[in-house]
Amino acid sequence: MRKGRLFIISGPSGTGKGTICKRIVQEDPNIRFSVSVTTRNPREGEIHGRDYFFISKDEYMLLLEQDGFLEHASVYGSTLYGTPKEPVQKWLEEGTDVILEIDVQGAFQVKKNEPDCVMIFILPPSLEELKARILKRGSETEETMAARLGEAQKEIDQAPLYDYQVVNADLDRAVEEVRGIIEKERNK
Ligand code: ADP
Ligand code: 5GP
Repeated sequence: MRKGRLFIISGPSGTGKGTICKRIVQEDPNIRFSVSVTTRNPREGEIHGRDYFFISKDEYMLLLEQDGFLEHASVYGSTLYGTPKEPVQKWLEEGTDVILEIDVQGAFQVKKNEPDCVMIFILPPSLEELKARILKRGSETEETMAARLGEAQKEIDQAPLYDYQVVNADLDRAVEEVRGIIEKERNK
């Protein structure tokens, strides 16, 4: 049986990755979203097990010791994130495609072990618009906002290393573009 394909979506905070991924998985039954673990607090409206598994640092360290991560990284200072290995491997074996919404460090860890993965970078139309989107989401304090914007340019600098770059100006068009990339890669 054909194995599933692994798609990685990265981009700076607030660029619309989560919104795009939600649309893709809602409309395509052949692709699953990998729910990451994180040590950050849930935002208003985020649900444990749907958006993230919100765990303590001790629980995270235990998973790390047990070799439970496909990849893992510390993003924006001390916040820890990771992709649980087991569900992703199971879906791929079953022939289901998987989307990982992860940062640049994690993306390159995965690429090393799974060279066939498809890397897609989502760019904001401008840094001003990126800031406006993070503000609109209302999720950050002044300090965490500064950390996220501080990292944004460094992350954007890595975009050329990805297989595809998609500018998320108009949401519908960006979703269509990502969907087109997925279809094209499936047919390779
Ligand atoms: P990320 O997952 O990259 O951090 P989100 O998906 O949480 O970003 O999006 C950040 C904010 O920007 C959300 O409020 C979302 O509704 C909004 N947003 C996403 N895409 C667009 C777009 N194309 N135009 C305007 N606002 C957008
Ligand atoms: P947020 O806190 O805004 O949800 O995510 C912050 C950053 O962490 C984003 O760049 C997001 O892609 C990244 N991220 C989320 N989950 C994971 C993960 O499992 N692994 C890695 N390496 N990064 C992640």
